Amino acid sequence: MSIDAKLRERAAKVVPGGMYGHLNAALHGPAYPQFFVGGEGCRQRDADGREYVDLMCSWGPVVLGHRHPAVEGAVAAQLAAGDCLNGPGPVYVELAELLVETVPQADWVMFSKNGTDATTQALMVARAATGRTKVLMAHGAYHGADPWCTPSTAGTTPNERADLVEFTYNDLASVEAAAAQAEGDVAAIIVTPFKHDSFEDQELVAAEFARGVRALADRIGAALVIDDVRGGWRIDLGGSWEPLGVRPDLYAFSKAMANGHPIAAVTGVDSLRGPAQTLYSTGSFWFNAAPMAAAKATIETLRAVDGIALMERAGTRLREGLAAQAASHGFTVNQTGPVQIPWLSFEGDATLDKGMFWAAACLEEGVYLHPWHNWFLSAAHTDADIDRALQGTDAAYAKLRARFGAD
Ligand code: PMP
Repeated sequence: MSIDAKLRERAAKVVPGGMYGHLNAALHGPAYPQFFVGGEGCRQRDADGREYVDLMCSWGPVVLGHRHPAVEGAVAAQLAAGDCLNGPGPVYVELAELLVETVPQADWVMFSKNGTDATTQALMVARAATGRTKVLMAHGAYHGADPWCTPSTAGTTPNERADLVEFTYNDLASVEAAAAQAEGDVAAIIVTPFKHDSFEDQELVAAEFARGVRALADRIGAALVIDDVRGGWRIDLGGSWEPLGVRPDLYAFSKAMANGHPIAAVTGVDSLRGPAQTLYSTGSFWFNAAPMAAAKATIETLRAVDGIALMERAGTRLREGLAAQAASHGFTVNQTGPVQIPWLSFEGDATLDKGMFWAAACLEEGVYLHPWHNWFLSAAHTDADIDRALQGTDAAYAKLRARFGAD
């Protein structure tokens, strides 16, 4: 029996279902290992010692590569000095200053721990500011796992979602209709920087949609919230809609902000500073200094090495390589999303039979990617790493062809 199987057996006795949430390997396919023991740069090692080129980056947090020396050095120094104290360390102020300097939209910052904390806190600020109740969100969008936003209704009540009104991503008329339905009671419009729902091809935002939701929020006096938890720190260090010239009232960040260390942030505009100050919003570990030191080192390093350009280069190489391989093996594939947050689906594969088979074959070939959730690249992916990944994907296409035949 593999070490992974033994660990699963033990986990099943002491944890409901053995594992839960987004990292539950049972959701990814039988070939996927559950337990990991190490990572270096863009490689991860599972509990049985198999090494993979990591195209998931721990579902986003790892943006500079595993165990990046600048980040781990900053964390070690902060841990040696003190992490969880009776108040935040000076690094709290330094990080807040760095964020205000890096994100042009930001006049102020509030910290928390997870992406769900940040999206929830952003909506609290919007409600405190407007005195209104309703929130407009895109159908199918993921904004976290609290009762108001978890995609599963188990353990929640209808009341907890009663204040959401849904629209269709990239369809401005549907946002207008949702606003009309909420009859003047809209506190916020929350939107992701691009459409990255699981099981579906991704969709970049249309510039006129982004400008349109900004104008609508202004017209109805609601706060525009961008949930940049997934896109943040990979598309633009100033916030993912900065290249469009559209600035929200509130950005929610987490995931890649501290290269795998636990921290989230909401950044806001001046007019929301007063309402933000009225919240009682806190957590036992929200002010720990080590993740703040990690975030500071991560953002400084991303700036210094032009991490986004590195990710775009790696992502372009991967996308072009995958396209050429698909064509040579006779498959029609759809590659969607920004190149540094990519996904690939097989044309006409509604059942995901091909996608699941191919992803499992990639795993066998030492490439860790995902059959139904977008992937993530990091600044640690060199040309050689991408070429190594492409060797694996090529072999996986060959296995797919042997199993299903070409399109
Ligand atoms: N918003 C988006 C867009 C996300 O992708 C996620 C996490 N996948 C969240 C919010 C929630 O973040 P967390 O899991 O850290 O609470």
